[in-house]
Amino acid sequence: MLIGVPTETTVGETRVAATPETVKKLMASGHVVRVQSGAGLAASATDSAYAAVGAEIVDAAGALGCEIVLKVRAPFDDELGLMKPGTVVVGMLNPFDADGLQRMASANLTAFALEAAPRTTRAQSMDVLSSQANIAGYKAVMIAADKYQRFFPMLMTAAGTVKAARVVVLGVGVAGLQAIATAKRLGAVIEASDVRPSVKEQVESLGAKFIDVPYETAEEKDAAEGVGGYARPMPPSWLARQQVEVAKRVAMADVVISTALIPGRAAPTLITAEMVQSMKAGSVIVDIAAGRGADGVGGNCTLSEAGKTVRKHDVTIVGETNLPALVAADASSLYARNVLDFLKLVLPKEGGIKIDLEDDIVAACLVARDGQVTRKST
Ligand code: NAD
Repeated sequence: MLIGVPTETTVGETRVAATPETVKKLMASGHVVRVQSGAGLAASATDSAYAAVGAEIVDAAGALGCEIVLKVRAPFDDELGLMKPGTVVVGMLNPFDADGLQRMASANLTAFALEAAPRTTRAQSMDVLSSQANIAGYKAVMIAADKYQRFFPMLMTAAGTVKAARVVVLGVGVAGLQAIATAKRLGAVIEASDVRPSVKEQVESLGAKFIDVPYETAEEKDAAEGVGGYARPMPPSWLARQQVEVAKRVAMADVVISTALIPGRAAPTLITAEMVQSMKAGSVIVDIAAGRGADGVGGNCTLSEAGKTVRKHDVTIVGETNLPALVAADASSLYARNVLDFLKLVLPKEGGIKIDLEDDIVAACLVARDGQVTRKST
């Protein structure tokens, strides 16, 4: 098959959907790969590195005009205009964006949104949410350590003792777990909160303390179990008790990393303006959910501003919306491997494309085909 790798055009997007490593493997399987000139540059993958493994270096039309197009982000209209009807596009195509799905369907694309893959053992090697959230959790702590004007570890020096930083992590999915692990490596003292009770053991195994908020009613217990490993919105009664507990910890924290998300819904508000006001001067909040709150600007913190770092009530609030793009090389390497593993499901050895809807991963990721949106976006 003819496989294209265009340059991403989303502002701030530095990642690329195929690296020289994965291009080499695709070529070894008999495919022809066309990479847009400069596509990998921001991720430290040069045209010459792609050419060295046999890729053809082409312009945007050359890459987008292939039978299969590998993307990081959903294509914009000008990119859709360069894609032929029937093109297979694979990427993080935002399965909850009904308009975006419709645009791809109207362009007659066969589109696979990898974020929609089930969180199963078989899908692990193509789990883009995990590979990228892991990076986001790491980078959030790196940014916090950079903005924070004190040490993370406890230090005993001739000039006196420095206390360890207190870090609170809100939401302990993949990003939260990596944030805990990274903050721990730097010597911080960490507490964490999540709605899902199964997380407690994982938090403790990383050497952090779980903020216990007991479930008092059957409705609370039921909601906390979530669905498919994901959180569901919790009843207001539990959220109110959680907020009291979290508020106490946030007031004492030096750094808060918030990562709480509910798929297809607005991010829950966990840090109010009053809570920010209660924090010590010089504290830092990194809100991974920035821009995903109900107003599209805030995130888990109401004072976050998507894409900006702001200082409010003497607290630095980082609202970076694409943390993986700040670790472009490794984010691309891992993403490209996810894409390659997914392609194995739809590119049989005997050639051509096979869309087997009996395969739960293929069926879940297929969002548009034959002019139709094939997935509900809510
Ligand atoms: P996510 O990004 O959707 O959400 C982040 C975290 O926020 C979740 O842990 C969620 O429970 C939490 N959250 C939501 N509302 C909250 C609130 N009000 N207060 C505090 N926390 C709140 O999650 P994710 O990282 O994508 O992980 C989702 C699930 O998938 C997890 O159960 C994870 O273990 C599972 N998973 C499974 C596999 C696999 O088996 N292959 C791989 C990766 C992840």
